[in-house]
Amino acid sequence: MANSEASGKQAVLVVGGAVAGSEAVAQFARRGFLTIVIEQNPRPYGKIEDGLPRWHVKLRRQEYDKIDAKLDQPNVRFVPLTKLGRDITLEEILSWGLSAVCLAVGAWRDRPLPVAGIDAYIDRGFYYQNPFVYWFNHYEEPDFKGPKYDAPDGTIVVGGGLASLDVVKILQLEAVGRALKARGLPGEMLELEHKGIKRSLDALGLTLADLGVKGCILYYRRRVEDMPLQEPPDNATPEQMAKTGTVRRKLLQNFLDKYLFTFHERHAPVGLIAEGDQLAGLKFAETEVKDGRAVIKPGTEKEVRAPLVISSIGSIPEPLQGIEMKGELFRIKDENTGEVEGLPGVFALGNTVTGKGNIQVSLTHGRLVGLHVCEYLRDQPAPPPTKVAAIEAKVKALQEKVGYSGNYKEWIANVEPAA
Ligand SMILES: Cc1cc2nc3c(=O)[nH]c(=O)nc-3n(C[C@H](O)[C@H](O)[C@H](O)COP(=O)(O)OP(=O)(O)OC[C@H]3O[C@@H](n4cnc5c(N)ncnc54)[C@H](O)[C@@H]3O)c2cc1C
Repeated sequence: MANSEASGKQAVLVVGGAVAGSEAVAQFARRGFLTIVIEQNPRPYGKIEDGLPRWHVKLRRQEYDKIDAKLDQPNVRFVPLTKLGRDITLEEILSWGLSAVCLAVGAWRDRPLPVAGIDAYIDRGFYYQNPFVYWFNHYEEPDFKGPKYDAPDGTIVVGGGLASLDVVKILQLEAVGRALKARGLPGEMLELEHKGIKRSLDALGLTLADLGVKGCILYYRRRVEDMPLQEPPDNATPEQMAKTGTVRRKLLQNFLDKYLFTFHERHAPVGLIAEGDQLAGLKFAETEVKDGRAVIKPGTEKEVRAPLVISSIGSIPEPLQGIEMKGELFRIKDENTGEVEGLPGVFALGNTVTGKGNIQVSLTHGRLVGLHVCEYLRDQPAPPPTKVAAIEAKVKALQEKVGYSGNYKEWIANVEPAA
């Protein structure tokens, strides 16, 4: 991407400053590259702040600190509140003459629920997981101005992965917390989460029924043994697969025992129930699993009414103008290098590529691609000093536009949500 006048230093731009992005930044900063980080939010923590539920108090703090340490470095230029695709285009960034561009933008689009017409009911009896969890993580902040979501008792959750169990947990904690507080009893979320609902209620000599709470219902289209709650080893033998299935069943049972919700396996949503402009529930059919696929059993359809339906069936990258898609994902040449097809010098890393909702997996991929980019740049002439200065000027203009003075610590302290 760079031309070959007198050498300056490599200049790399990373979009998204969270787990994967900040790890790549650490690799670049270590080698003395000018490293620019464009982040859409005031804070760079991504799904650690807005996905991982807020009861993970210690883990969230640890991950924030790790990200801060990687971004708060002399040759890193942080540009908050700047969204690629809204405030700046990929085309514009590519015109700067950077050495490389890394897309660590995560997976923020909920995979569409395959029920015809359901999206017409978004926020009218139907939510997707990502905005709901965002609300849960932030709604207690005194200056929270985001959309308000409800968490009524009896909500249906469609899912089966770990994130859907967190959605279930949020619903149960909200319903039981509300019911306890209404009776003047302690219903503090962190305490309920830590002890579990069963143990917390046992200690009070109460049951869900005593509180008038029915609990939410999780529907999964395959068998418990297929739930992606635990990964089998690579190239697993049939015995290892069976063992993984047993572990998955045990994990789910522990979760059911602790949080007291209802679960139905082998059920897929096949239609919706509407009342006026509100969603009033879903039609489910039973399935059987054939070659790993959930196949609808004819004649098994039934209606399930609920005050709310939440779809939690996975997150995929938001499309970016200028990046070709392959199905739900960016079209990349090789997962190990993150090279984006058709755009030399552009790389994708983290959740955007792995599709896995896992901090360690994002971190490892961020490092893998970061190191690959360093290797790629060894054979590329660095942009000349005049170009680097021009890039610095463009970055400064972007920082000034959002009121960022260049002092990372000071900025982070100012944008910390009020407790
Ligand atoms: C409900 C839930 C529970 C979870 N629980 C766990 C758990 O218990 N353990 C675990 O290991 N993992 C868990 N995860 C997953 C984990 O949080 C993520 O996999 C990981 O944090 C992703 O890191 P990332 O850097 O790849 O992506 P992200 O954190 O998504 O980072 C992407 C960054 O890019 C920014 N960005 C996106 N688009 C743009 C744009 N156009 N312009 C500028 N900036 C942009 C975002 O603001 C964000 O900062 C959970 C996730 C969820 C949703």
